[in-house]
Amino acid sequence: MNHPVRVLLLGGTGEARDLAARLVEEGIEVVSSLAGRVARPRLPVGEVRIGGFGGVAGLRDALAGFDVVVDATHPFAQGISRNAAEACAAEDVPLLRLERPGWADRATSSWIWVDTHEKAATVAGELGSRPFLTVGRQELARFVPALAERHVLARVVDPPDIEVPAGWELLTSRGPYTLDRERDLMADRDVLVTKDSGGEHTWPKMAAAGALGIPVVVVRRAPAPEGVATVADVDAVLAWLSDPR
Ligand code: NAP
Repeated sequence: MNHPVRVLLLGGTGEARDLAARLVEEGIEVVSSLAGRVARPRLPVGEVRIGGFGGVAGLRDALAGFDVVVDATHPFAQGISRNAAEACAAEDVPLLRLERPGWADRATSSWIWVDTHEKAATVAGELGSRPFLTVGRQELARFVPALAERHVLARVVDPPDIEVPAGWELLTSRGPYTLDRERDLMADRDVLVTKDSGGEHTWPKMAAAGALGIPVVVVRRAPAPEGVATVADVDAVLAWLSDPR
């Protein structure tokens, strides 16, 4: 591009914060967008807007202020990624997906892969009586039917909107976590449930499960929207920005 690029950065992840910092450092105009889901978000450097756009129509309107979009949202934030693909295609705005690789390459034989949270709940209930759920506050309701009678420990950043069953324990906390702390926390647990979030930030729980010999139920990612170019790191985004079409 031969004029200054204005980037709309769909964020809510560590990678998005890293990218925002890098763009600001490089003097590239960027506005980071957060959904506003967590009470005290970690804010990226640079300009930030918070809250939904109002579906595809609202996002299409917002695109008028930008030359390109980088979707660096969480691998499981599928709604906003779909909306970005549709809005950018409709407005002919270049879109790049920045997505951290999943954990498949590091899987062991004690990982059980499932396609849905409901299936994860059923499998966890078959495998143990003291599951450790690390699937996020928004998904917890999907685990209640299968695990209502189990002694669940659920770790969340903010408390969920639902009332959890009496036998469940909620732990509100936000990483980073260390292997030692995760081992201590999981010492009396018999199954771990996680999304295939990927990255290093929450990897210590996977390592701890391996060390303790605890099975791990892993919810697979859904396929990304078709036709959207995807890169795995910030350097690749910078390279793309020099010629985004
Ligand atoms: P989602 O289901 O994909 O999106 C639901 C709606 O939230 C979207 O339609 C959009 O509302 C709004 N939204 C989502 N991300 C947004 C963003 N970055 N900026 C502005 N609006 C956004 O999203 P989600 O799974 O609830 O995740 C919400 C945010 O938390 C994401 O930004 C994601 O990166 C972050 N996050 C998600 C997870 C996870 O496991 N899902 C984990 C860690 C962080 P409108 O339709 O009104 O535009």
